[in-house]
Amino acid sequence: MADCIFCKIAKGEIPARMIYEDDEIIAFHDAAPQAPVHFLVIPKKHIPNLMSVEPGDIALMGRLLNKARELAEQLGCAEKGARFVINCKSDGGQTVDHLHIHVLGGRPLGWPPG
Ligand code: 5GP
Ligand code: ZN
Repeated sequence: MADCIFCKIAKGEIPARMIYEDDEIIAFHDAAPQAPVHFLVIPKKHIPNLMSVEPGDIALMGRLLNKARELAEQLGCAEKGARFVINCKSDGGQTVDHLHIHVLGGRPLGWPPG
């Protein structure tokens, strides 16, 4: 999608601190980290949010979640764990309308969210 910031990161049109890339997925550090580990795992395909996932995207969703888990382990969260978050639409706190999984770790995180 032309004016989507995460599509631009996926195409290399704007820079990001990349962690991982394959033909379907990228992961990069969040620009405003909320924890010592805070990165985003996104599909290269422009899917606006979790509620716009289509049946043909289900295998991709599984790959995204598994990659988030794998990278969290590689970035030091294997022992103490991490939080895996998908904000969805306005009440969910989504600010970038391109599906992404937040991975936060490296400190204890409170619950419930505000
Ligand atoms: P949301 O609120 O949509 O769940 O999360 C969007 C996240 O994207 C925020 O944590 C924000 O800091 C991050 N973000 C927004 N723009 C950029 C950017 O240009 N580069 C990077 N690396 N992260 C961004
Ligand atoms: Zn996009």
